[in-house]
Amino acid sequence: SKNQNIKSYFGAGPSKIPNEVLKEVQDEMLNFDSTDVSILEVSHRSKNFENVVNSTVNLVKDLMKVPDNYKVILLQGGGNGQFAGVPLNLLNTTGKADYIVTGAWSEKAFKEGKKYGAVNSVFQTSKTYTGIPPQDNWVLDPEASYLYYCDNETIDGVEFDFIPKTRDNVPLVCDMSSNILSRVFDVSKFGVVFAGAQKNIGCAGITLVLVRDDLIGKRVFSFEDFKYGVRSCVHLTYDVVHPSKSTRIYVLNKVLKWVKENGGVENMEKMAIEKSSMIYKVIDDSKGFYYSHIKKNSRSRMNITFRVGGPTGDEALEKKFLEEAAAEGLLALKGHRSVGGVRASLYNAVTVNDAIRLRDFMKNFMNKQ
Ligand code: PLP
Repeated sequence: SKNQNIKSYFGAGPSKIPNEVLKEVQDEMLNFDSTDVSILEVSHRSKNFENVVNSTVNLVKDLMKVPDNYKVILLQGGGNGQFAGVPLNLLNTTGKADYIVTGAWSEKAFKEGKKYGAVNSVFQTSKTYTGIPPQDNWVLDPEASYLYYCDNETIDGVEFDFIPKTRDNVPLVCDMSSNILSRVFDVSKFGVVFAGAQKNIGCAGITLVLVRDDLIGKRVFSFEDFKYGVRSCVHLTYDVVHPSKSTRIYVLNKVLKWVKENGGVENMEKMAIEKSSMIYKVIDDSKGFYYSHIKKNSRSRMNITFRVGGPTGDEALEKKFLEEAAAEGLLALKGHRSVGGVRASLYNAVTVNDAIRLRDFMKNFMNKQ
């Protein structure tokens, strides 16, 4: 087909990194910042590397309009690391915390939290995640150390269209791994925000954490607390965390610059709406040929999940869909193995043109059946 040389990558994570960034990384790989050594080799104590770290922190503050009373921390361990990091750092003497479970990732965080404290799910969840129950029906504990949620569920395709309200100044903790920098957030509403970089802001191996100052150093678990194995978790404690030496900060830095040069978070949000609306429209106009289980007000702009051939999906047709898409250069559209079907991840680096190519393919595929 005429399009087979153009590749559009819709992987859920690790995901598309802007081509311009990849090119720059390639160009600089042998000689970083005129040091005559590679970024992979340069000392993490060098001035040049320190500049990358400082510039990265400043770009995050600038792009997200982070208030002065927040620390920006770059560390390792991914989103999963923070599933433990959050309770280890934030559980207070009540030992209690509330979790809003709306998909596979908040469910995992909830299970991890149980290892450290008396964590509570604020509503009864069903096994399939299709939306967000109204806030009026949640039961929030005023003694909770924090209220935890995942703003965009990467596997299920469920995204909040509001910021949850906490009660009695309970800090709000948010996993933004798969939609950070894709919409404008008022950071002051959060106690902690974290994101593994490998979806919207960089490559695997670096985790961004924003923490409000007053929540740092309050943890009840101490380093001497062998019972919880905290001694080995120096990389997870917000007040003593060792500055990450990861080269991935360099890629993160370049992606953040790219976001800035391309209109900032406001423009990323505009594009996310444009790209995702295009695909949801094909689904909605398809009379059930493409089927989304997600309630309209909880539809993710980042990860669009759908079935082909009806609500439960026709597996043979889905296989054909994925094969023909791949032949057209539309790659990595297979849904997560736990839910099946199709998933189109439309992160910031996925272009409007990529989305148009997918939209047109979906229409043509349907019309051919
Ligand atoms: N949270 C969300 C929303 C995710 O999509 C992922 C995906 O991998 C994770 C957490 C886990 O992050 P990591 O793989 O960095 O541990």
